[in-house]
Amino acid sequence: MRHDELDLGGVDQRARTGTLPHRSQVDTALDEAYRRALSHHEGTVADYIPVLGAADPEAFGLCIADVSGDVHEVGDTRTAFSIQSISKAFVYALVCEGIGHREVRELVGVDNTGLPFNSVMAIELAGGHPRNPMVNAGAIATTALMPGATPERKWQLVIEGLSRFAGRQLELDDEVYRSESDTNDRNRAIARLLYSYGRMRADPVETVDVYTKQCSLLVDARDLAVMGATLADGGVNPLTGDQVVSPEVSRDTLAVLASAGLYEHSGEWLYEIGLPGKSGVAGGLVTVAPGKGGLGAWAPPLDGAGNSVRGQIATAHLSRTLGLNIFASAPADRQDTR
Ligand code: GLN
Repeated sequence: MRHDELDLGGVDQRARTGTLPHRSQVDTALDEAYRRALSHHEGTVADYIPVLGAADPEAFGLCIADVSGDVHEVGDTRTAFSIQSISKAFVYALVCEGIGHREVRELVGVDNTGLPFNSVMAIELAGGHPRNPMVNAGAIATTALMPGATPERKWQLVIEGLSRFAGRQLELDDEVYRSESDTNDRNRAIARLLYSYGRMRADPVETVDVYTKQCSLLVDARDLAVMGATLADGGVNPLTGDQVVSPEVSRDTLAVLASAGLYEHSGEWLYEIGLPGKSGVAGGLVTVAPGKGGLGAWAPPLDGAGNSVRGQIATAHLSRTLGLNIFASAPADRQDTR
């Protein structure tokens, strides 16, 4: 069932989800999460994009931005890295804002593939449907839907939009862009395959170029926290006050992240952490506590699905200690009336 079929008419659909604990408690929890994750040395740094292989495996930063604009940081929160797949979440939101969620949903879908982020088999199994905007196929199809008649204009709208989410002008890492462009035959193949199935609304090779640029944008853990906090705050950047996307688009984006943000580990992630999140192969991880704030983490070593190991450990700790899991509840107070 679709939510346009579930129209609740005049019913106020806004929900309150509570607030974060006092700021000193957030600082304490952040320090604990950082120290706990720092003792983990598992995972490997991605090197299928050659330049990413040079990342420092010990780099680690953690940041929480809350919806009132408070920012809490520990570790390497101001070191830049490429946003990679985390861009998919924000480009998806911009495209839904630009053309409406219906067309994107038809063409790209919202269901988990259960397969790796760059799977060709997933496309074939679904008869050419990309299934969701967080795997490469769906993300490339989504970038093709970005308003703008030319690839140059689409790219301009992507960089402007993602900069508004971050609250500052983001820049392209040329080295990462060139390194990925020289080696991303697989993404070009995915795009051509989608095109052959009629699922791409723009030139496949030009679209992959825009997609590769969006993945090569430089951010730091603090930017990710602010970008996440914008989705937590009904689409308003809590630092700049800019309404980047609507509350409805924020909600829909978070639903997609919950189902597919950590690829084939999305179920495990939701079970452990209970929050929408999105990872990238440079070690970035953004997590959103709706109505409360965003958490940005950066630690390059990844697990088998391409998700930051330390980022996940720290986020799990914060979800528990700050009471962020959206599925958690306590029994209501009841008075014995017998
Ligand atoms: N740019 C990367 C790619 O297309 C992004 C993948 C990722 O972060 N998981 O392969």
